[in-house]
Amino acid sequence: MSEINGKVVIITGASSGLGEATAHRLAKSGAKVMLAARREDRLVALRDAIVEQGGDAIYKVTDVTEREQMESLAQATKDAYGRIDVLINNAGLMPLSPLDKLKVDEWDKMIDVNIRGVLYGIAAVLPTMREQHAGHIINLSSVAGHKVFPSSAVYSATKYAVKAISEGIRQEGEGEIRSTNISPGAVATELTSTISDSETAKNVDELYDMAIDADAIARAIAFAIEQPADVDINELIIRPSKQP
Ligand code: NDP
Repeated sequence: MSEINGKVVIITGASSGLGEATAHRLAKSGAKVMLAARREDRLVALRDAIVEQGGDAIYKVTDVTEREQMESLAQATKDAYGRIDVLINNAGLMPLSPLDKLKVDEWDKMIDVNIRGVLYGIAAVLPTMREQHAGHIINLSSVAGHKVFPSSAVYSATKYAVKAISEGIRQEGEGEIRSTNISPGAVATELTSTISDSETAKNVDELYDMAIDADAIARAIAFAIEQPADVDINELIIRPSKQP
């Protein structure tokens, strides 16, 4: 039987894209999934679809930038399922733009969701995982967390930060807390809709012609979770075959 079966998994940003695909895939393998995001209608629809297919899912409306909401998310997960095995810090924004456009509000939002949200997630689950002497934190970085492109300075900065945080968890995990940094290339989701700079949006649309399906990333996440407790998949980069 898969190591995923029976695991309690919190997924942030579960209302679309990679989070939604991952929820479906893990629930099919027997995970108990806690779905978190801000859009309740999407979470209800996803919960219902998973339950209809025989899976186990619950949801909690959560803004990852609010620390109390992340703490409530962790508590609600423990109240329902008794433990937290995996946190997937997936919620993220990508409003790319050249620095000269001074879209400072968008810089702030990316820092809040992509970095602060990840840290609040870790703060919410780490004490429980330490009590359990076991846990797994999976963070969504990006190819842009390995390489900087024109227009990606701030987004890349947030994803480099995520990679650093993943490595920190690994080093401090002491054999109890596993850490996986997932770095996707172009994946067809709603992520590019947050780009407000028209020139950048046009360039990104061209790159995303080759985008792969969200389930490609869900499979990589499942691969990391299904390893036995003494194996930690630290880093996975998943690009479309055609992506330069
Ligand atoms: P989507 O735009 O489809 O999904 C983003 C998710 O984040 C949504 O569910 C959204 O839900 C949630 N979210 C945004 N802000 C908040 C918030 N404040 N609180 C809680 N949830 C929030 O994009 P993807 O699925 O593509 O992105 C998932 C992750 O993968 C991101 O971290 C992204 O950076 C990363 N990634 C994606 C790539 C791609 O090409 N698609 C490439 C590399 C990395 P809601 O609005 O309901 O709150």
